[in-house]
Amino acid sequence: MKKFPVIPLIVAIVALVLSVIAGRKVTEARKEMIDNENRIAWKHVSMLGMDKFIADLKWVKLIQDMGKVKGKMTENAALYFANALDSITDLDPDLTKAYDMGSLLIANQLPDRAIALLAKARKIALEQSWSWPYYSGFYAERFLPRKGTVSDAECFKQAQAFYEEASKLSGRPCYVDHAWMRLSTRDAGDCPVKQLAAQKDFVLELKPTYMEGMEGVEGAEGMPPEGAMMEDMEGGMEMEDSAYSRLKARLLERSQALAIELLDRMAEESDPQKKDKLESDLDIVRAVFEEFRPKGRVCQNCLFAYGAGQFFCPKCGERVEAYGYCRECWKQGKMVLLHGDFCHICGAESP
Ligand SMILES: [Zn+2]
Ligand SMILES: [Zn+2]
Repeated sequence: MKKFPVIPLIVAIVALVLSVIAGRKVTEARKEMIDNENRIAWKHVSMLGMDKFIADLKWVKLIQDMGKVKGKMTENAALYFANALDSITDLDPDLTKAYDMGSLLIANQLPDRAIALLAKARKIALEQSWSWPYYSGFYAERFLPRKGTVSDAECFKQAQAFYEEASKLSGRPCYVDHAWMRLSTRDAGDCPVKQLAAQKDFVLELKPTYMEGMEGVEGAEGMPPEGAMMEDMEGGMEMEDSAYSRLKARLLERSQALAIELLDRMAEESDPQKKDKLESDLDIVRAVFEEFRPKGRVCQNCLFAYGAGQFFCPKCGERVEAYGYCRECWKQGKMVLLHGDFCHICGAESP
């Protein structure tokens, strides 16, 4: 009797298992291509997993080549890297470090190629990053003008548009929004007070102009008080992350710091004309603060937020309008801070 054909059977089973695995891989790869419409044009369909592998190998080679350059990058070397990065990201469009590190590597010599590399990332990578438009802006602002191929004004215009784009993406750090504001108000020049005034106008432009669900409601004209808007709107968390909220907070900080600086300079200044100039600067700074004033009380002189039961500003010593203490107890010489509408010591209702 012949032996049962064990080996052909095992081969058949292995082949079956492999075909199932391969089938899954193809389905996955297809799904990935359908998910991103730009991927339909992707040429390396037949290589499937292999192209990512080759991209990794090329990337390792590129890192080694980077070591050889040892900080002495020439334009020729940058050109070599730019081409290598292009081919790596052709093979694996999701190798994010190739965009991040790669663009940084060539930006100084070839800012236009660095920007083009990031434009590719923004077009075809599945996972988008705020850093891509942000760094595009950074290269356009800092490196592109040095090449002299494009006018400075055009470079800054490009950078401004990139920063604006980055300011709309989640997960971005605050300096992205700050860069957008700084560059958009560059015409104000170097004077910090003029800058602040220009930035106030810029931020006011970003102020949300309508409330969801408020359109068509009669008597809903004009803006509700700021605080009400932040709290009442659904998705308030998203609003907190908006460029408007972030830049508003920035200007509040900035105006407080500037007010204190100007007060210090005024105290030292003996020339009455210069003193007048400082005083009018201070008025501008206070007006910016007033525009975005947070809830709570602040010293009219230095804009410091003082607390309940304080009669003088702890920062600058100016008299402030006291609040949040029991008037009745104070008449007896006792300072009682209120935690509700009535005094918890004497029961008097607070004014
Ligand atoms: Zn003060
Ligand atoms: Zn009391």
